Amino acid sequence: MRVGAIFLMALTFGAVPLWAQRGTTLLAEKGVAGLANELSGETAKRNLEGLARLHRQRGSAGFHAAAELVAERARAYGLSDVEILKFPADGKTFYGTQRSRPGWDAEVARLYEIEGRPSQLCKDGLKDAVDKLHDEGKIGMVMVCLNMFADYEAEPVVVAEDSESAEIAAELVDVSEGTKGADYAGKNVKGKIVLVGAQPGAAQDLAVGKFGAVGIVSYAQNQKTAWWGEDENLIRWGHLETFSQNKTFGFMVSLKTGHGLRERLARGETIRLHAVVKAGQHASNYEVVTATIPGADAKLKDEEIAFSCHLDHQRPGANDNASGCVTILEVARTLQKLISEGKLARPARTIRFIWPPEIEGTMALLNGRPEFARRIKAAIHMDMVGGGPATKAVFHVTRGPKSLPSFVHDVAWAFAEFVNEESYKFAATGSAEYPLVAPEGGKEPLQAQFSDYTMGSDHDVYQDSSFGIPAIYLNDWPDRYIHTNFDSAANIDPTKLKRAAFIGAASGYFLAGLGHEEVWLRTAILQGYELRKSQANARLWHLGFDDVCVDYDQRLANEKAAADSAKKFTGQSLASIITDTAVGCAELPGRVPERAAVYKRKAEPRGPLAVFGYDYFAEHARTAGVATPKLLSYEGLWGGGEEYAYEVLNFADGKRTAQQIRDAVSGEYGPVSLELVTEYLAGLTKIGVVERVK
Ligand SMILES: [Zn+2]
Repeated sequence: MRVGAIFLMALTFGAVPLWAQRGTTLLAEKGVAGLANELSGETAKRNLEGLARLHRQRGSAGFHAAAELVAERARAYGLSDVEILKFPADGKTFYGTQRSRPGWDAEVARLYEIEGRPSQLCKDGLKDAVDKLHDEGKIGMVMVCLNMFADYEAEPVVVAEDSESAEIAAELVDVSEGTKGADYAGKNVKGKIVLVGAQPGAAQDLAVGKFGAVGIVSYAQNQKTAWWGEDENLIRWGHLETFSQNKTFGFMVSLKTGHGLRERLARGETIRLHAVVKAGQHASNYEVVTATIPGADAKLKDEEIAFSCHLDHQRPGANDNASGCVTILEVARTLQKLISEGKLARPARTIRFIWPPEIEGTMALLNGRPEFARRIKAAIHMDMVGGGPATKAVFHVTRGPKSLPSFVHDVAWAFAEFVNEESYKFAATGSAEYPLVAPEGGKEPLQAQFSDYTMGSDHDVYQDSSFGIPAIYLNDWPDRYIHTNFDSAANIDPTKLKRAAFIGAASGYFLAGLGHEEVWLRTAILQGYELRKSQANARLWHLGFDDVCVDYDQRLANEKAAADSAKKFTGQSLASIITDTAVGCAELPGRVPERAAVYKRKAEPRGPLAVFGYDYFAEHARTAGVATPKLLSYEGLWGGGEEYAYEVLNFADGKRTAQQIRDAVSGEYGPVSLELVTEYLAGLTKIGVVERVK
């Protein structure tokens, strides 16, 4: 089957028969076959197995080892400009809105029980024998018959990031979640270790700062999905607050261990723990690995299409996000090989690959090396692309925020639809021209979804209005093992890695070579438009008449702007292919015309206001005496406070009135009152991030 046929089948417009035109296919068939043959899910997975051994915390020895591994592979694959860029991470240097966080490492961390119920070994009478050997100086350890709850060396996830050194023996006290004063009522935790259900960072200022606890044991659970809390053996990756004044240590235990401890404490048992921690923050660097495939065109090679992922996270962190990093590495290997062998033409633009620590590394790169932000015309970001039936993954081709309309998502979706079709055909009949199945992988159909913007990874940084770089976001959700010790290589499907690599490689290669308007591009954009329209119509029943009207007009304006954005690549706007007409809802009676106040974001600082481990808005609002705006805790139909806030700032472009910004975010996340939007804009003005221009 010719690949172009997937578009041609749907074509019913245009005066010239499309098959009579040149360049109507997405990629020449040769290119598709080349990618499909060369991309290897097994090669990607073997690299993943290397990364998954490493505990990859920001600025740590484990992260450095991962960066070296990726750089070594990139060199071996023949990529150009392979470098590990370094940006100081010292807790003081700012990269736009991100205060750099110092690196963090641990050497030793163990948690034992030293009193209370003896373990089975002790019951069997070994304790006396062991104590005797110790007394005679024949062995140094007396811990063998005690419960060992956690050991960093075996399982580094057991220590919360940003823990500090300690050697303490203390009683354990159950304080439920540990996040509100009432949790501590009637309990004396001074000099004791608290057992909490929340993340250590959410409890530390109360437990340690206010009530004098000396450490934290947490059985916090991972992100909420339908499977949340069902597997009581999961140990979640934990965090303390990087910039808290109340330094302490935190151990993470499973729900099963947490419940066991709670039951014993509830029965009135005394549990004494011995914690040994050698760990801490230190001045370090954000390391960002990068490499290129240089473009062929004398002028256009200064423009770049960037592939991105995030290389940090806890061990094993297989799907989140060794998977994205090895998949862009496999894209790099494949494109480099096919181009150097002459099987694919060298594209006009440069293709760049970036492996940073999540969000903060991208913030350091785009702020610290502004030429990167200037050159990158589109990004393809992969974060969790290897899940399968074991993780309950649904694969998403995720669009950008409405504040940055772009056609690039339609390009990715066109390729994903192709993989959906071919992989389903193969699953259903046992035969397809491009099944894209890895020999060691699954045969399930991909069933990718084309989804509205969701936040939570580096694509938020690229698409922030201070950078304005459209980003295709390829990601799995849900994932029942995310951020736990069970996010392991065993769950990763090589077929899935191969398919994600194919969608990414085809999209990136196409964009890197896009120089003139191609008919198929119109069809890809119209295909995306029709799908978005039906998705949006399906949710209209939530809305009243005025809101339906506003929603419709917003969507239409957005679609025209997205089609128009093609001119940044081709020199020609495609806005005219969207032929639906607006209703004119801005004129509806009862709407306040005022509100002609116009806000404009300032040039600095650049980046979203809530980044990683640091909240620029919260810190500056505190200093400026601005009360927390109600928008930040607002729950809309399709989004929450963080999303509204991100977009209100992005929409403050010096042209839109407060009313128009309100309409724009209402169309995106569901109706919100003008008052909440204005209050937030006033807060942004007070902290100096936006200015009122009218
Ligand atoms: Zn991630």
